[in-house]
Amino acid sequence: MTHTPTSYPMSKDDLVDWLSGRIAEFDPDERITPLTLIAAAVDPGLGWTRADLVLRALADSGVLHSTERASVYTLRPDLPARGTGHVWFRLTNRARSAVEVVAEHPLPREPWDSDHTPVTWRCAGCPATDSVRYKTAARDAIAHAETCRGLPISV
Ligand SMILES: [Zn+2]
Repeated sequence: MTHTPTSYPMSKDDLVDWLSGRIAEFDPDERITPLTLIAAAVDPGLGWTRADLVLRALADSGVLHSTERASVYTLRPDLPARGTGHVWFRLTNRARSAVEVVAEHPLPREPWDSDHTPVTWRCAGCPATDSVRYKTAARDAIAHAETCRGLPISV
């Protein structure tokens, strides 16, 4: 998903309009988090706080649905908590930016046996992201969260 805006930063209302117009481009089974929006490169200056406000506004207007997990939204109200785009865990780095490990599959009962499950981890405080196997992603995300001082962009 790409966007060619005329000005940055986009206002919250502009972001809500932008996302509303493109909501059909998301996989209906996908979970959407602020980092999903940041990864979509809607606005290079978009940070966790503003992305979360945009998603919450769309949930309040019924376009998205909240899940029992904070800052995790879905397109369908009947979607179970587990599934594509499920946030397996969320850490914070040294500057309190979110670092998430996300997978297409539910968290296995024995996650440390899931050598072949592809997952992605990404940081809201810097451009760091990587798609790897779960064991590597968990280890790398934890190591990154312990060292990264990237501030959550709060505009
Ligand atoms: Zn980082």
